[in-house]
Amino acid sequence: MTEAVLSGDIGGTHIRLAVVDTAGNIIRLIKVKIERSTGRSNLTKQLISSAQELIQWASTKNIKILGVGIGIAGKIDPSEGKVIFSPNLPEANGKNISKIVSEYTKCPVFIDNDANVFGRGEAWRGEGSKVRSWLGITLGTGVGGCIILNNKLWQGDKNIGFVGEIGHMTIYPDGFRCACGKRGCLEAYASEGGLLRRIAHDNLYSSSGRIKSAKLLYLKALEGDPVAVKLFEDFGRALGIAIANGFTLLGVRHAIIGGGVSQAWEVFKQSMFDAAYSNCSMLSSDQIFIVKSKLGDEAAILGAAKLVLDSI
Ligand SMILES: [Zn+2]
Repeated sequence: MTEAVLSGDIGGTHIRLAVVDTAGNIIRLIKVKIERSTGRSNLTKQLISSAQELIQWASTKNIKILGVGIGIAGKIDPSEGKVIFSPNLPEANGKNISKIVSEYTKCPVFIDNDANVFGRGEAWRGEGSKVRSWLGITLGTGVGGCIILNNKLWQGDKNIGFVGEIGHMTIYPDGFRCACGKRGCLEAYASEGGLLRRIAHDNLYSSSGRIKSAKLLYLKALEGDPVAVKLFEDFGRALGIAIANGFTLLGVRHAIIGGGVSQAWEVFKQSMFDAAYSNCSMLSSDQIFIVKSKLGDEAAILGAAKLVLDSI
């Protein structure tokens, strides 16, 4: 009998769940669209039924599921298995998701913030496996962060519910409004949400049709569209400043950048490196290493699997 774990990644639109063996091979992966037809999602229900489906499938293949790991965006208390606040899982706010899923799957369930899960995946099978201490940043709808020191994920103070929230580090005190309510956070510049809010706020592209995704804006920037080029320059600059501040504070020199919007690397990397070099007074430019994750979507799935393996 093969031993494996069930690992999940809950994003804004989809749940991805996978059976991953103990060596980190993804054996089977399913992607389920989150139903929001009733205005209120049945995410917990969908999560449980998908997990049951995969566990059922595993049993027919003689695969023993050791546990379930799930990465969720938002404020999570991993030690309690509780969602404190999640924008993607509002019905679970305040609930013990680990306990609920565990009741239905009869498996131990572990949850963590999606950026921490990214960190575990990268440290296990990605760029992070090559360095001991590094800063991880995920660029998506928002910006997440994780801190790995001496090969260990820094979990934050006991029961604090957040760690590595670099997305809400202030870059420009009088800058654009962030989703959190503050001004000038990294996330207001270097995330899909931030880019789209800036486009709406400044009424950009109003004559040529609204840009609805970071991907479309990226394609515009590749074509040399000056507005898109400028937005990604600002994106990279804010990111570079945040990385320089992170390095200065933590005493690290490596950063790994993941998340869907990291795919726009080509159009923000120059301003990111320039800003990191000129804002990190403790390191010279040849001592600063910033790389893009090569695992892509798999980082979260592998990280959620590693969360189980590290916990049981
Ligand atoms: Zn913020």
